[in-house]
Amino acid sequence: MFKLPNSRKSTVGFSIYMINKICAKVALFWYYTAYMKKRLLSGVQPSGVMHIGNYFGAVKQFVDLQDKYDSSIFIADLHAVTTTQNKDNLSKNILEVAMDYLACGLDPEKVNLFKQSDIPEVAELAWYFNCITTVSYLERATTYKDAHMKAKEVTAGLFDYPMLMAADILIEDADIVPVGADQKQHIEYARDTAQKFNNTFGETFKIPEALIMKEVAIVPGIDGRKMSKSYGNTIPLFGSDDEIKKAVMKIVTDSKTPEEPKDPEKCNIFALHKLFLQGESLQDLRARYEHGGLGYKESKEMLLNEIIAFISPMRKKRESYMNNPEKVISILKEGANKIKPRITEKMRIIRDNIGVNL
Ligand code: ATP
Ligand code: MG
Repeated sequence: MFKLPNSRKSTVGFSIYMINKICAKVALFWYYTAYMKKRLLSGVQPSGVMHIGNYFGAVKQFVDLQDKYDSSIFIADLHAVTTTQNKDNLSKNILEVAMDYLACGLDPEKVNLFKQSDIPEVAELAWYFNCITTVSYLERATTYKDAHMKAKEVTAGLFDYPMLMAADILIEDADIVPVGADQKQHIEYARDTAQKFNNTFGETFKIPEALIMKEVAIVPGIDGRKMSKSYGNTIPLFGSDDEIKKAVMKIVTDSKTPEEPKDPEKCNIFALHKLFLQGESLQDLRARYEHGGLGYKESKEMLLNEIIAFISPMRKKRESYMNNPEKVISILKEGANKIKPRITEKMRIIRDNIGVNL
């Protein structure tokens, strides 16, 4: 048999020792990154076409954080039934939001991407939350108050929206929930509900934190109010050039002439430029506003070009999914299947603590 000389033996032994050490470190790192990551959860309602407020306020954070967190990103179709009560529209919007997510850069290998209605346990959990929540507490929700002011009748579903959202977050033991500022109060509802449940039935839920990026907390719509699918004041993220142009040209401004100096911080167009321009380009534009000589029409045309340049690579990616909707549907199914075991286990604990498991 072939024998190594003693000096070679010690070198080989040392090498094996080092390889073992490195492998142990790699395994530890892999275990840490795979299993010890904090959990992130968020979603977008398929209540209309995704807009640039959704992207900068929420979806960009989902993409930026997908390596750092164990992320669950869902399509909030149960929530959308409160406003979208047309079968064809809802199904179409669900698929559209899924394609938007993928085009924006969510990687289904890294993120659990699913449709809320594929996890019906959230509706059961929302029911348990209803049983420990008072009507007067829910009446304080600003979304309910807004809807109540506008509509004669508010559905029980819309009134109860914060409890379903609390269930979405708490069933997954989410540590952080990236959202726009409009959702801050709903995260407070989830935190309060977790605490109330824990006090009533024993320690069951983690207390989640909202993650709100200050600079993009509320992206204004073309009328200056918060950009919202339901307000019809959006710039569609994946609209055609014409659709985007139509929206941009409608942005509401004051009636200053091109020659007059303008305060950029009071201009809806400038607020949107800030999403696309940084550093010197933004400073130059600010100076042109303050100096005078820049008309709103020119500023809108500049914004239009910025938006189209920004989305063009994402558009290309989206086209490939549009040609393969079956693939998108199977990504959503796989995403739900991935989280099902932990949802089942969490529900077992919840039902045990409530007393409905015999
Ligand atoms: P709807 O009008 O149906 O409520 P929406 O436009 O408000 O639709 P949602 O699906 O409710 O969109 O929200 C998805 C995510 O996008 C949430 O995290 C929300 O906070 C965020 N978001 C929505 N609009 C804006 C906005 N104008 N600026 C920043 N973030 C936003
Ligand atoms: Mg909303």
